[in-house]
Amino acid sequence: MNPDPDPRANAYDAPCAHCGAPVPAGTGLLRRGRRGWDVYHREHAPAPGPPARGDHSGWHHRRLLSLDIGSTGNRPERDRITGAAVRGSDGTARDWVLDLGSNLQDPKSSFTPRSSDPGSELPDPDPGPSLQQPKPGFSLQGPDPGSNLQDSDPASRIPDPTVGSTHHDPDSGSQLRDPNVGSDLHSPDAGSKIQPSSPASSAPPAQALEELATVLVDHLASRELLVVWYAPHVLSTLHAELLRHGLTPLADRLAESGGVAPICDPLILDRHVDRYRPGGRSLPAVAEWYGVPHERPGDPASDAEAALLVAGALAASYPAVARMSRPMLHAEQTIWYAEQMERHPDAPTWPFDPVEPATG
Ligand SMILES: [Zn+2]
Repeated sequence: MNPDPDPRANAYDAPCAHCGAPVPAGTGLLRRGRRGWDVYHREHAPAPGPPARGDHSGWHHRRLLSLDIGSTGNRPERDRITGAAVRGSDGTARDWVLDLGSNLQDPKSSFTPRSSDPGSELPDPDPGPSLQQPKPGFSLQGPDPGSNLQDSDPASRIPDPTVGSTHHDPDSGSQLRDPNVGSDLHSPDAGSKIQPSSPASSAPPAQALEELATVLVDHLASRELLVVWYAPHVLSTLHAELLRHGLTPLADRLAESGGVAPICDPLILDRHVDRYRPGGRSLPAVAEWYGVPHERPGDPASDAEAALLVAGALAASYPAVARMSRPMLHAEQTIWYAEQMERHPDAPTWPFDPVEPATG
């Protein structure tokens, strides 16, 4: 028998979800269906992947806006936003490249791109400044997440086994590198600006950040979902950057309309809907799982686009998630994230921490 990437067998006799004939315990395969686990004869099991997309209604048919940033690193209080992109389901596409040299007193001291960055998503014992955008992925597939302890990601600033670009194969116990991670695709040349899909001239950070904040607030004030892959990194960094430039943070701008909500974080959702699926949890891996294009991982524009499409695909695959009201979806993600971070009391708050920018 060919090795199966997902060789979990059925523990009990059950009818095959494909043909209806009985599948004796231990002989079939489990596949995640929209309503739970389905049992198949091995020859009838579909390839691993999300459940087929349905045509049900849900928030994924509403106007979604997706945000991503490029940053110098993963410490929200200290690191800087180098670029930002928003992509909307209505065709909105805005890109910003921040000219950090325009107002840094000593760019060298606080903005030191790595000379080469072959594995920026890989565990990094020294999460120093980097141009690379962190793309945390999660790896809770295994029944023993604790075995992934070496798989920390600087994005979390904690030794978080669930953050990283490797995944744990629940069956073999082996650590598998995400094949998508560590490739040159992930590594914009150090020292170069992030390349947006549409040309964006670099702007003074304060100007770009104010424009970005205005776009985001306009959207959130209408109570529509803002899609943010790993929101704690993106929104905490943005909060500190706005303060650093003497600008009003999103939370204050939105105080009258319910705060920084509703947020849709596809990373949280992906882990929630299928915690033990095979495959990595980095954005490229998740995009591949859902079959959505992701042309330039690490580029905020491409990442924002991919996150937008992942959110839509995920909702199309999981009606129970899609049908949640937007406030409910936001509230549930808070709970799911807390569950996912149960072993990590130092995990950043979802959707963000109102961190003060470091001085000096
Ligand atoms: Zn069958």
